[in-house]
Amino acid sequence: MDVQSITGMLLSELEAVCISMGAPAYRAKQMLSWVYEKGVMSFDQMTNLPKDFRHQLSEKYQVFSARVDAINQTADSTEKFLVHLADENVIECVLLREGKRVTVCVSSQVGCAMACRFCASGLMGLERNLTAGEIVEQVLYVKNHLSSNERLTNVVFMGIGEPLANYDNVMKAARIINAPWGLGIGARHITISTVGIVDGIRKLAQEGLQINLAISLHAPDDAVRTRIIPSNEKTGIHSVIATAREYFETTHRDISFEYTLIDGVNASKQDAESLARLLRGIQCNINLLPLNAVEEFHFKAPSWETIEMFCKTLEKHGLVVTLRKKKGDDINAACGQLRLQRHKFLREKEKLFVK
Ligand code: SF4
Repeated sequence: MDVQSITGMLLSELEAVCISMGAPAYRAKQMLSWVYEKGVMSFDQMTNLPKDFRHQLSEKYQVFSARVDAINQTADSTEKFLVHLADENVIECVLLREGKRVTVCVSSQVGCAMACRFCASGLMGLERNLTAGEIVEQVLYVKNHLSSNERLTNVVFMGIGEPLANYDNVMKAARIINAPWGLGIGARHITISTVGIVDGIRKLAQEGLQINLAISLHAPDDAVRTRIIPSNEKTGIHSVIATAREYFETTHRDISFEYTLIDGVNASKQDAESLARLLRGIQCNINLLPLNAVEEFHFKAPSWETIEMFCKTLEKHGLVVTLRKKKGDDINAACGQLRLQRHKFLREKEKLFVK
């Protein structure tokens, strides 16, 4: 982690690096074009830079800091990337294909402190925040992996970690992903998802960006929410909803509420009625997602009849509902599952050598 990677730099920062090395500022744009347009991963390949300058750069900086250890693919063409960081930690990002929409779901932290009761990422706690570069690299790895007739259209911060708990690095990464000299993905195609960090939502509202906000609600009231999202005990669902209203009043951007349906926990008719009451008057859409079960938690997705009933009840109240398909069941696509599996594998391996 000592050698800085250029994937985490803004154009202005890279220009300052060039000048500090006695090179003209325009070299920065040339470098970024190699990285973001041509998918190059080393200074050596940047053939329009003088050889000496390339050598000088590689002594102090690197292009990428992480590498991909494995890519797992499902029958529905979802692909999960296991990304190995310079400090030996691993994270995941996921490539999702839905018609012309090609989305990468990125991680923002190594582990997560939120400990949601249905999520593999929360099981091992928080290790550290990802740097802006480590976030951008996930997008680049997926982009570079696409075939020539595919185009990356969307980026969602919905992988491992709570993005608003790593606010500065996430915002810097979002700016690089959005920048014309960076990945050039429109702000309206970038979504930041939060469990409901109210200060972070307020800050985001003031950024003046057109980024989408998704709030992982998962419950219609405090009793159910605190059961599955422990951090709700401090915040309270009404404070999250009030902040969502403020966000809409400031940005005039619709909000998405994510709602993972868990059998016997939050998926009854009464839950749907309470949820409709809770969200009354908010300009929003609700993304319903049947649970991707994690072995450790013993929760499961409801039956198809229950999912349909939940969906129709919300629609009867005039809410806009999208039912998301479970994706990548056969590759442990729920957030953090692959990382958890690798951790368990390494622990078992260690046991073999400890007498
Ligand atoms: S669902 Fe999101 S916020 Fe909750 S533990 Fe998992 S990664 Fe963290």
